[in-house]
Amino acid sequence: MCRHIGWLGAPVTVSSLVLDPPSGLLVQSYSPRRQKHGTINADGWGVGFFDTWGLERSDAGESAGVRRWRSDKPLWGDASFASVAPALRSGCVVAAVRSATVGMPIEPSASAPFTDGTWLLSHNGIVDRAVLAPSASAESTVDSAVLASYIFERGLDALGEVVVEVGARDPGARLNILAGNGSRLLATTWGDTLFVLQRADGIVLASEPYDEDPSWRDIPDRHLVEVSGAGLTLTPLEGS
Ligand code: GLN
Repeated sequence: MCRHIGWLGAPVTVSSLVLDPPSGLLVQSYSPRRQKHGTINADGWGVGFFDTWGLERSDAGESAGVRRWRSDKPLWGDASFASVAPALRSGCVVAAVRSATVGMPIEPSASAPFTDGTWLLSHNGIVDRAVLAPSASAESTVDSAVLASYIFERGLDALGEVVVEVGARDPGARLNILAGNGSRLLATTWGDTLFVLQRADGIVLASEPYDEDPSWRDIPDRHLVEVSGAGLTLTPLEGS
């Protein structure tokens, strides 16, 4: 299934997180190393980040801090993104490459990250949409967008609770979520991989390590991860 990455820390370029690392999202789009489900991630990609300048502008709207660039094509084919990504800097980034679940639409709006204007959210996994409340605000009919909308409605402070509930209603679900709001990153592990790298300038959460740094740590399954200025906390999810 998909691969995602989140950053919280000092402003860095999008390219330094997504394109430049030897096993970053770009390489993971055609040659992931730890992916449990699916072989390549060629059904689209998305990069979301918080734009501090946009937030500071006096005419900025409520969601002016949230910027996204999404596509339904392979990341490796996007020369325009490769050209612009070194000029995009942010202290909070959520990005993903997608391997569509069978039967799901392939369209830019089905690529993570999804947003409610405050949070950027990616889902790596699969869920039966029938166990989620129907949502008028989902960005796409893809299961991940319906799940994102459900999580936004319940509020991200309930993320752990929602994952446990949805996991109980659909025991076959895989629910690795990654979300950021500019000052926090939240993630869950529920059926797929997640790693953390604590760097001097910030924290990376990623489906798989983007390089050979020995400091990458594996997050155990069925956990909630919270990253903020105060550091990183790991909480086992109830029922696990
Ligand atoms: N089910 C989602 C989709 O079809 C996510 C798939 C994934 O994790 N690869 O896009």
